[in-house]
Amino acid sequence: MNYMKNLTCISCSRVYRAHPQRYLCEDCGAEGLLEVQYDYEALKENWSREALARNTERSMWRYAPLLPVPSPAFRPPLQVGWTPLYYTEALARTLGLSHLWIKDDGVNPTASLKDRASAVAVAKAREAGVHVIACSSTGNAASSLAGNAASVGEGLQTVIFVPGRAPQGKVAQLLTYGALVISVQGSYREAHDLSAAAIHRWGWYNRNAAINPYLVEGKKTVSLEMAEQLNWNLPDWLVFSVGDGCTLAGAYRGLKDLQELGFIQRIPRFIGVQASGCAPITRAFHTGEPLQEVEENTIADSIAVGSPRNYVKALRALKDTQGVMVNVEDGEILDMIKVLGKYTGLFGEPAAVAGVAGLKKLIHEGVVGREQGVGAVITGSGLKDIKNVITAVGEPVKLSPDIGALEPILLEKGLI
Ligand SMILES: *Cc1c(COP(=O)(O)O)cnc(C)c1O
Ligand SMILES: [Zn+2]
Repeated sequence: MNYMKNLTCISCSRVYRAHPQRYLCEDCGAEGLLEVQYDYEALKENWSREALARNTERSMWRYAPLLPVPSPAFRPPLQVGWTPLYYTEALARTLGLSHLWIKDDGVNPTASLKDRASAVAVAKAREAGVHVIACSSTGNAASSLAGNAASVGEGLQTVIFVPGRAPQGKVAQLLTYGALVISVQGSYREAHDLSAAAIHRWGWYNRNAAINPYLVEGKKTVSLEMAEQLNWNLPDWLVFSVGDGCTLAGAYRGLKDLQELGFIQRIPRFIGVQASGCAPITRAFHTGEPLQEVEENTIADSIAVGSPRNYVKALRALKDTQGVMVNVEDGEILDMIKVLGKYTGLFGEPAAVAGVAGLKKLIHEGVVGREQGVGAVITGSGLKDIKNVITAVGEPVKLSPDIGALEPILLEKGLI
């Protein structure tokens, strides 16, 4: 059973039929982001927390009633979602916090949270009967799209526009999954504009998250899972790294759905974290002024978005939850990669740990109380981008193969 009703414009409320290739409002243009509407009344009658508990599907598709994909036949076969949520006591203690839960979305099939959106994109392209699907991306949106498209077999080709600076690990993924990769020698914005022009000219399926209304629905499964994994009792705060703003907006959307259905009563306050070298959304949030494009100066490439396109939904989520935005320096991000690794066994890429780095700052500033509980998501695996990490973690101990030489080192480390 499918509960999707239609799409509505967030600016003018105009209603559209939910065609897979309906992206923006005709009247409002780029400002006219659309939002999927569901039949909550029917959902309430036919779906419940108990029904979910009985569901044996261990992927994002366990929330199919709240997703915009009418038939299971369109879903790509990779197992996306239902990632682990850890109660990270040692890290909480180090940060001076009472309760911290961390969801590891680095274990998704292509190693980032973006798989959640790309799985929906591939399903919608198949529903539309389109054979080429394209996007511009700093890396993870692209690699997840290429992987999910490859998983459905022949018949779906991906064309990916990446900015020149995309990390090698991600580009290697793209080429491995068989995508046509166009490395645009310019900024993310220029890569985006070129992809938009090509998509328009050749009628490809558009997986640009900021305008395709279905993708944020895929991303919302991250918060649906957190809520269910926490037995419908969410902590005081949820933290997200912010680039385009789609992840944060999607997570909020998921919790709004759950509240509408009566699965949860309260929505946590949201924390958005950007890198100091590229923080247009933080600036707009604090000044109340319209968003201004900025340069992209940070090692956290997945959140280096100088001209974000989904900030409207993200700002709305922050406002509605009395949220906060904060920036972190690249040094703080690199430091958090090490702290996270050491105290949890999780390895995140720079953008993935920016959220927790921001959390650390907010605890110091007293914005997040030490007695409070927080949930965070590691949005992508550290193995995707090891260049900067290697400079931060230093060198291994170099030793000749001689146990006599090993002994003083072990003594010094207190291991013997
Ligand atoms: C895309 C991405 C983000 C940020 O998501 P937005 O929707 O762009 O705000 C954070 N971390 C990682 C690893 C990402 O790939
Ligand atoms: Zn409109």
